[in-house]
Amino acid sequence: MELEGEVELEESLGELRQSFRSGRTRSASWRKAQLEAILKLITDNEDKIFKALQQDLGKHPVEAYCDEIGVVVKSANYSLSSVEKWMAPKKGHIPLLFFPAKGEVLPEPLGLVLIFSCWNFPISLALDPLIGAISAGNTAVLKPSELAPACSSFLADTIPLYLDNKAIKVIEGGTDVAEKLLQQKWDKIFFTGSPRVGQIVMSAAAKHLTPVTLELGGKCPLILDSLTNLSDLKVAAKRIAWGKWGPSGGQACVAIDYVLVEHRFASLLIESLKGAIKKFYGDDPTNLKYLSRIVNKHHFDRLCNLLEDPNVEASIVHGGSLDKNNLIIEPTVLLDPPLDAEIMTEEIFGPLLPIITVNNIQESIEFINSKPKPLTIYGFTKNEALKKQILTETSSGSVVFNDALVHFLCDDLPFGGVGQSGFGRYHGKYSFDTFSHEKAVLQRSFFPDLEILYPPLNDSKLQFIRLAYKFDYVGILLHFLGLKKTFT
Ligand code: NAD
Repeated sequence: MELEGEVELEESLGELRQSFRSGRTRSASWRKAQLEAILKLITDNEDKIFKALQQDLGKHPVEAYCDEIGVVVKSANYSLSSVEKWMAPKKGHIPLLFFPAKGEVLPEPLGLVLIFSCWNFPISLALDPLIGAISAGNTAVLKPSELAPACSSFLADTIPLYLDNKAIKVIEGGTDVAEKLLQQKWDKIFFTGSPRVGQIVMSAAAKHLTPVTLELGGKCPLILDSLTNLSDLKVAAKRIAWGKWGPSGGQACVAIDYVLVEHRFASLLIESLKGAIKKFYGDDPTNLKYLSRIVNKHHFDRLCNLLEDPNVEASIVHGGSLDKNNLIIEPTVLLDPPLDAEIMTEEIFGPLLPIITVNNIQESIEFINSKPKPLTIYGFTKNEALKKQILTETSSGSVVFNDALVHFLCDDLPFGGVGQSGFGRYHGKYSFDTFSHEKAVLQRSFFPDLEILYPPLNDSKLQFIRLAYKFDYVGILLHFLGLKKTFT
């Protein structure tokens, strides 16, 4: 729906809050029915989704299925089969001092949540968090990105036809609408986008003490070890090329931003990358068939500006053609552009790949550590010591060895950033947790009523408490043996 005015917004949110208060969205049956409805929405409308993604980003159907439709189908099916298990309370150990007692962690929905999605994966980045919100029993408002208008109106038109529209609403619009939504009080805001807008979201949320999940971006580096085996290098080059120019043509938060490699290995890497690019996209550098286009003129101009610096332009070793009319930028490789140029200080978010040479691979760790914490660090290596060093000496939302981007498709791995690349995580059970509050529940019995904590206090009570805390592991043992339950 389009937002007409404040009153209409208040009414819509009032209806959503009322639905939550009614308790309807808490039942497993409601959650499962909505997840099934998402699956039906997706399968009934596959062609419309292909068309919308083609219109917004020029996405090929294979890519559209892999990164958008398939992601949603997989995620909805996984949640559908797991949601009852996730909803079940989990036992918690209670200290011996309070024995007999029963402790539980009970997940409860947060209430009414707001989801802002991004334009680069306009279907999956909207529906995947929504699956989490629904699985956890919340009501939700989804604001799709205005920069992918065909997908935004597809979601706005279709969601009300399939989902419970007294509990889930789509509100379309740009910055003005986003600002109005941010003035409202939510029980959670889940935002996917830039660190700049992430700051705006967080300060708006602070006014109401609303918890936020910020799925942001940044520069994802790749460390390429000097692979001595040529067939390994060939595989690495294909995966790097796919990780850069594949999904959304480099307009992905987890796209490889730049590659770090030892000097002596750079020319071999460049030749291998050229081979992979030719294999993927053929001789026509701006062949639209398999390469997503840049989302709009603003982002196209932004990327062109990155290349305008004469020192950056001089570092191009492959590509560089620009098709202004169709908003296509040829897969472009640069060797050692100046480190203080914008291409190396800002997230690229497009099909330009700088290769930065280092004297030795250790230097690449120092290089990464001198920058904000990335969303993902990629490492292509067979060297276990280097893998360990990347894992223990750097910090990032995730680390992937010997491939790129595929971790985004794994529901059992948490997806999210750290530091400037965001905080909070989602996918699979992590989405459920993100949209739930884990309520601690403690139940004691009336008998026996140990006087130990009550005044008057004395030395023997102190000794008893000291021993009870010291030997608390007996209680943990009882907990694991399931014996404590017998006494409560
Ligand atoms: P953006 O941050 O400009 O916009 C995202 C959303 O914020 C849009 O829906 C927009 O309407 C809203 N918005 C824009 N300006 C606003 C304002 N002043 N007040 C309130 N809301 C406002 O997104 P972008 O820069 O176009 O997207 C690219 C960024 O998103 C990159 O940094 C990328 O890495 C990141 N991203 C992250 C993920 C992830 O999962 N971590 C996924 C995709 C994109």
